[in-house]
Amino acid sequence: MTLALLSPLIIVGSALALILLERRYPYEPKQRLFREGFFTDLLAYGLLQSYLLGLLITGFITWLDRHTGWSRLGLVSGWPLLLQLSFFFVTHDFYIYWFHRLQHVSPWLWRVHEAHHSVDDVDWLSGTRSHVLEICINQTIEFAPIVLLGASPKVALLKATLDAVWGMYIHSNLNVHSGRLQYVINGPEMHRWHHARDLAAPGKNYGTKLAIWDHLFGTAYRPAHKPARYGLEEPRYPKRGAFAYVAQHVYSFLPEARRTARVEAEWAAEGHAEPRGSA
Ligand SMILES: [Zn+2]
Ligand SMILES: [Zn+2]
Repeated sequence: MTLALLSPLIIVGSALALILLERRYPYEPKQRLFREGFFTDLLAYGLLQSYLLGLLITGFITWLDRHTGWSRLGLVSGWPLLLQLSFFFVTHDFYIYWFHRLQHVSPWLWRVHEAHHSVDDVDWLSGTRSHVLEICINQTIEFAPIVLLGASPKVALLKATLDAVWGMYIHSNLNVHSGRLQYVINGPEMHRWHHARDLAAPGKNYGTKLAIWDHLFGTAYRPAHKPARYGLEEPRYPKRGAFAYVAQHVYSFLPEARRTARVEAEWAAEGHAEPRGSA
């Protein structure tokens, strides 16, 4: 069987395995499979957006290569497949650590990342919720070098499969105790804390696949207890309804004043006499 056929089977098989494991070994036993936003994440983000952006980004990289001709130089073509894969795996993971960290400090970049933090019940599916621009930036930076440096097409396919499976794993509601492995390999033990709303959580655990970056750059956080809650401190963030996907993207472009006004209006409607900020 070819890798192109095997890849979707591995992804679907991993999803089913994680769903079963989440039932058997839950990190948060109260979480439901069909939680708020389940179908938005599965259909709009997981299937439709992934498929369409896959076509768009592949088309853009193909266009870029046609105009530069860089892949014909075959800069990494002679390397063994495992070395190619390891090279792109580590370099991209290093990039994503720093870009992710930047997204949490830059108000502009946060706008294209907050969707990812808007899930209150972090699980195997919640990692799919990523803003359309965030995917365009990150996947172009991930896959363009693979194509332009002349890597084997298998590298892109293997990497895309790894991304999907690892993304589901680190968000899964799975009570994993990986011990010292957690110094190297990232998993739900650390990434669920990245999504926590607890006071100590912000600014921690930016790693995706490798945890070494967090340990090296002082952002690792893995206390013995579990987070009290997950999600956003954003009372008007749109999470419900059939058009939540569209509403979330519209919300990301709303001027700050409009966002504040919406929160203040709700605050006043609740009967508070003072502005929300002074409470
Ligand atoms: Zn984040
Ligand atoms: Zn995440």
